[in-house]
Amino acid sequence: MRWFNSQQQSRRFDQFSYFLLVSLFSILVAAPAKAARLESWRFNASQNQLEITTDEGVQPKAQLVSDPTRLVIDLPGIVLGRPVINESMSGTVRSVRIGQFDRNTTRIVMELAPGYTLEPSQIKFRGITDRRWLIKLPTPQLASTSTPPIVVAPKVPTAPSRSAESEIAAIESVELNGSSNQLMIQASKPIRYTSRWDRSLALYRIEISPAQLSNSVKGPQLGSGGPISRVKLRQENSQTVAVLIQPATGVELGQVNQPSQRLVTLELQRARSLQSATTAAPRAMNVFNPAVATTQLPRSPNGRMVVIIDPGHGGPDPGAIGINGLQEKGIVLDIGNQVAVSLQRQGIQALLTRADDRDLDLDPRVQMAEQSNAAVFVSIHANSISLSRPDVNGLETYYYDSGRGLAQTIHQNVLQLTGVGDRGVRKARFYVLRKTSMPSVLVEVGFVTGRDDASRLSNPAYRTQMADAIARGILQYLQQAAGL
Ligand SMILES: [Zn+2]
Repeated sequence: MRWFNSQQQSRRFDQFSYFLLVSLFSILVAAPAKAARLESWRFNASQNQLEITTDEGVQPKAQLVSDPTRLVIDLPGIVLGRPVINESMSGTVRSVRIGQFDRNTTRIVMELAPGYTLEPSQIKFRGITDRRWLIKLPTPQLASTSTPPIVVAPKVPTAPSRSAESEIAAIESVELNGSSNQLMIQASKPIRYTSRWDRSLALYRIEISPAQLSNSVKGPQLGSGGPISRVKLRQENSQTVAVLIQPATGVELGQVNQPSQRLVTLELQRARSLQSATTAAPRAMNVFNPAVATTQLPRSPNGRMVVIIDPGHGGPDPGAIGINGLQEKGIVLDIGNQVAVSLQRQGIQALLTRADDRDLDLDPRVQMAEQSNAAVFVSIHANSISLSRPDVNGLETYYYDSGRGLAQTIHQNVLQLTGVGDRGVRKARFYVLRKTSMPSVLVEVGFVTGRDDASRLSNPAYRTQMADAIARGILQYLQQAAGL
């Protein structure tokens, strides 16, 4: 993944030069068939960063307008489905307003304090998935007398005053149920929630609104051996409470549900397949002999199992760029090549979507997997966040649908064999995961912007270690799937 510079993209669209058109070329975005919704948004004032999540893919469009300076972000195909939101702040970004611009477009307006302006080329859009976007603003500057020409936007939504305080619920308790497989959040009045992994805190976040923490709120009793190692309750703003959860080792967070208007629950599951993967670890890799495996796993015509290894990006697309100019495309190519060699040695037919530094779209990668009747698809990427966050490091493994067991097995092996930090196994709607029919995963081997990860990923010996760990995870998964 990488940050996108909106102005670089806009040069290709001269006819719309007043638009900072944002293009995401590593993730294809399908036009939503029905009205999609804005699920959540969050503005981090200390980082000047807005994060939005929609329930279908979206391609944001942005424009900068003057007097006062406003960044206007339109989300075509997205319906807000609730009253206009207006949040005021004390910093140089003075307010964030969200409203329904027209029937099919949600508009977000971030307004600067009077006299401040933004350098348009420094506004960065990053698609975490096609549904989650980070919009990072540069530090606003006091405008000089000759401000660059910027167009006036169509009328922006104005926020009605906030409705009565009596709607706000009190969060009364957050506790585990009797069998410790559910966390229950109870409120005095009807509430709504959103949930997601909070990447900056590495905690699972459930946000409840409109709500305030009751003075007598009870937190859960967390014993050792329980499913949760930490819960934080925070009043995020006047009507939002955040419940931040760190699951214990070996525990997977399941669905968030709302059994009643005043109750939100989070499922907690012991990851059984993870435990069996761990106990299977000492088994020597070379006992795996696909010729004798009785299995339903698909095979190539010559009887060998096919695994697709997909190093991300390539050619003109460097992927993420990190500390000292470290490029994602080179790291993942080296690791991918070594994973393939490792698998070949074990009798697996490993096919690389790219074996050299070339341009390759997403669809051909998927087509290769489909046409070769591959048993599994493993995409390899390196992660990035702002260069100002060298403290963010670690492994993330993504799956969609049937790839969960594969993701867990690879993730566990990489953690054990490399010592990389653990940022969890996560579900995501990446194109290559959604469009492949076999179990497929995307491994983000580390952050090129992370102090620890960047220095390790620069080291060829570490990349070999990483490749061995990924290969071992794939083999273990195939052994289990074949009932060996
Ligand atoms: Zn990538």
